[in-house]
Amino acid sequence: MQERRFRGIGASPGIALGHVYLLQRSQPRIIYQFLIDKEQIKKETSRFKEAVNFARKEFLRFKQGLSIKEITHILDAYSVILKDPLLYKATLKRIKDERINAEWALLKSINEIERIFSKIDDDYLRQRFEDIRYVAERVMKYLSGEPTDSRYTYTHDTIIVAYDISPAETTHLQTKNIAGFITEIGTRTSHTAIVAQALKIPAVVGVKAITSSIKDGEFIIIDGLNGEVIVSPTSATVEEYTRRKEEYRLYRKEIEKDAYLPARTPDGFCLNVMANVELFEEVYSVLSAGAEGIGLFRTEFFYLQQKGFPDEERLFRYFKKAVELVSPYSVTFRTLDIGGDKFISKLDFGKEINPALGLRAIRLCLNQKTIFRTQLRAILRASAYGKARILIPFVSSLEEIHKVKAILQDIKEELKREGHPFDERIPLGIMIEVPSAVSICDFLAREVDFFSIGTNDLIQYALAIDRTNEQVAYLYEPLHPAILQMIKTSVKAAKRAGIKVGICGEMAAEPAYIPIILGFGLDEISVNMQVIPLIKRIIRETNFRDTKWMVDEILKFPTTEQIKSYIKQTLQDLPQTLSNIRYESLITSSHE
Ligand code: PEP
Ligand code: MG
Repeated sequence: MQERRFRGIGASPGIALGHVYLLQRSQPRIIYQFLIDKEQIKKETSRFKEAVNFARKEFLRFKQGLSIKEITHILDAYSVILKDPLLYKATLKRIKDERINAEWALLKSINEIERIFSKIDDDYLRQRFEDIRYVAERVMKYLSGEPTDSRYTYTHDTIIVAYDISPAETTHLQTKNIAGFITEIGTRTSHTAIVAQALKIPAVVGVKAITSSIKDGEFIIIDGLNGEVIVSPTSATVEEYTRRKEEYRLYRKEIEKDAYLPARTPDGFCLNVMANVELFEEVYSVLSAGAEGIGLFRTEFFYLQQKGFPDEERLFRYFKKAVELVSPYSVTFRTLDIGGDKFISKLDFGKEINPALGLRAIRLCLNQKTIFRTQLRAILRASAYGKARILIPFVSSLEEIHKVKAILQDIKEELKREGHPFDERIPLGIMIEVPSAVSICDFLAREVDFFSIGTNDLIQYALAIDRTNEQVAYLYEPLHPAILQMIKTSVKAAKRAGIKVGICGEMAAEPAYIPIILGFGLDEISVNMQVIPLIKRIIRETNFRDTKWMVDEILKFPTTEQIKSYIKQTLQDLPQTLSNIRYESLITSSHE
């Protein structure tokens, strides 16, 4: 078969080489993650033991009738692995101690074993991890109640190819066995891409006609940095990409080593760099990634992963744990932002013709007050155990904030009566992501404690570009003069009111935009964890004074083109790291 190349949009960085798994909509592996009550420990424990037993029997069955000695030895080894303390006992202990369901506990054990194996110098021994992963995969299959699929099992080099994967499905993919994914639709700021970044798996989206041009099991290379997909690569291409993959690994290692240093410019300006979090698993890595807290916790993904609606106790335990893990920094809990491209099947309001303009986020929460109150109560209760902030998405009017504040006040009194401790002065912030909020930002700034500019949606709504539609992705332009003016207006209003202001949209995660972000004089940014080390390094190498001057200049230009060419010219004199960014996309390639 001849080598074939396809182009798409690099949605999550990294390079992977592997085999295609064409995903039919009904086939994603679903790994639910939830906290359990004390009474459920026994049930989860026996479910896990039962699954291990099933897998053991399956290996025995495979063995029967096999005459090739090497393979029967391998199957014997698999049975031994099943009872390895790191896998077996550790999972049982996790279920009991961390009160989590069996699937999640098993996933955590696998991650831990992988971490241990990754430190082994010997290549052969390190690769033995794949056997453990395979064994765990069989157990996981039984746990998830899936029939065993003789046609295909995910192996460590599986690359999922699908027409589309919804954000919810992405969170459900058994990530550790998936080396990357490719979809026909989607863009860099769609929630599917955001989850791929959170999972640290390379992804290319918006690859036209890929599902009809590819077969199950074909060998494929995915380059999430440059948005490239290569099917049936020649051996020279495989060699080249294997080298690039290794280079990228070394680059990551290099960039990550001083992630813990503060993001202070040489002339003394400090920008607080925080993490965006979608999956609870990520909370454990926030501090080691160099983040100074969580600036955006997209709590809706927890709801998307649940079978039913989480009750207050479950939410409280989950939020409390996050607050404790991230202490002494704060966790910014964004209240449920469902709607747009994220749906919960349990909430069925009928089909909306324009979901992006529909009953989304705060509108939905004010419509479904019980769900909203439950979440707010849980956040407030968790605030007693560290530092928490509340962030309200999709605010488009002052009335909405008045309503939220009234509900919050009522809940605070309720909690006091019930004797629950909480942080009385918990900061309340809003997302600036709807153009009307920018227009009235002076009024809004007097009502809240901080602004978080959500550029993903602000660009979508201000420029009338669907952020999930790859056909108009070329128009999705963070450097559009209208967007820059809106950021400036919001920052000024925040400064006038003496409140904090930051950006938590993907714009702040684009290394090439950091000098611009700096120049706006924001207090904080919140970005996906992968990019934090690089962003902090760029900040440490850039003089705030230069960027401020540059931003003042670009705000005078009427077109994106002029803005871009001015920036490109100016950036040449800016930091080394920035000019050396070979792996992260730059202004010219990412949005044109
Ligand atoms: C945004 O809109 O910029 C944002 C950060 O929120 P989300 O991407 O979850 O809509
Ligand atoms: Mg948004």
